[in-house]
Amino acid sequence: MSSAVTKPEPRPSVLQIAAYVPGRASSGSTGKQHKLSSNENPLGPSPAAREAFAAAAQTLERYPDGSATELREAIASAYGLKADRIICGNGSDEILAMVANAYLRPGDEAIFTEHAFLVYRIVTLAAGATPVVVKEKNLTVDVDAILAAVTDKTRVVFLANPNNPTGSYTPIDEVRRLREALPARILLVIDAAYAEYVRRNDYEAGIELVATRNDTIMTRTFSKIHGLAALRLGWAYAPADVIDTLHRVRGPFNVNAAALAAGVAALGDRAHMERSVEHNNRWLPILRERIGALGFTVAPSVGNFVLIDFSSVPGGDAGEADTFLSARGVILRRVSAYGLPTMLRMSVGDDEGNEATIAALAAYRDTLPHE
Ligand SMILES: *Cc1c(COP(=O)(O)O)cnc(C)c1O
Repeated sequence: MSSAVTKPEPRPSVLQIAAYVPGRASSGSTGKQHKLSSNENPLGPSPAAREAFAAAAQTLERYPDGSATELREAIASAYGLKADRIICGNGSDEILAMVANAYLRPGDEAIFTEHAFLVYRIVTLAAGATPVVVKEKNLTVDVDAILAAVTDKTRVVFLANPNNPTGSYTPIDEVRRLREALPARILLVIDAAYAEYVRRNDYEAGIELVATRNDTIMTRTFSKIHGLAALRLGWAYAPADVIDTLHRVRGPFNVNAAALAAGVAALGDRAHMERSVEHNNRWLPILRERIGALGFTVAPSVGNFVLIDFSSVPGGDAGEADTFLSARGVILRRVSAYGLPTMLRMSVGDDEGNEATIAALAAYRDTLPHE
C-alpha cells in the first residue's frame, strides 16, 4: 500500500506532449490587424454556409444527427465516393486522434516526418505510443526515410500531403510507392487538408488508394478551403473496417448541428471554392517573387501559405522579424515547434493583408545591414 504517489497521474507519455500553441489571433498592436497565422480562408466561408449556420440557431435544443447522414451524402456526391465510407469529425484533428486511439497501443510506433503537422505527435503520445520522426529532404517528405524507419512495432504512418508548414507535397507515384512498400498491418493516414488548393498533374489526394485497399485512410477538412475553421469540421474516407473501428471510438454526437448544416451548404457553393482557389493561386507566385526579391528565401508551396526563411539574409532573425511585423499589425506564425526556428509561416491573406505583409517585410529588411 505504501506509494509515493499522492495525486492522480496521467500516462507518462502524456507528460511528453507539448500542448499545441495555435497561431496568435492578435499582435497586441493598435490599428488594423492582419491575422495570417492560421491558414484561414481570407475570403471567409460561402454566404450560403453563413445562412445555414444562422438557421441552425432555431433548433439548438435538438441533438445533431450523430451519423451526419446528410453531410456524408453531400461529401459523397461532391467527390464521387460512397457515403458509408465517410466519417465526420469535430475538425480533422479529432479524426487523427480517433485513429491514434483505435490503432496505437503503448509500445507501438507511429512514423511521421521532421517538419510534419504537430498534431501527429500529440495524438501518438496521447495514445501512449511512440513517435518516430524521420528526416525530410529539402523540406519535402522522403519516402525512403519513412520506409527505413519501419520496425515490427510500426502501426501507423502519418503523411501530410501537402504538408503544413513546409508547403511541399508528395507526388502520387511516391505515395503509391510508399504504400506498396509498407507492410499491410500499417495504417497509412494521408492528411490532405490542403488538397483543394493543389494544381499539379502529379498530385492526387489519395482517393483511389483508399478505394482500392484496406490499409489507407485520407482525412480532409472544412477549415481551410471552406473557411469554416470556427465550426470544427473534418472528414475521412476510409476502408469499411476502419470506418467501423472509428465509429466505435467516436463520441456519439461529435459534430455539432451548426457545423453539419454549414458544411452541406459550403459543399453546394462550388463558385466560392473556385474563387478561393483562384485568389490563393494568384497570390502564391506573387508572394514568392516579391518576398524573394527582398532576399528572403521562400519555399515553393502548393498550400494556402508560404514559409519564409530569415536566415537567408545576413542578420535576419525570425523571432525579431515576428516582433517587428507584429508591431505593424502583421501576425505570422513562428514555426520553431516544427523544427524551423529561422522561419515564419505566412498564410495567404486578402489583397490588403498580403500587401501589408510585403511592406512590413521590406521595412524589416531595411533594418538589417545591407552588404
Ligand atoms: C489545418 C490542418 C488540418 C485541419 O485541422 P482541422 O482540425 O480540420 O481544423 C489538418 N492537417 C493539417 C496538416 C493542417 O494544416
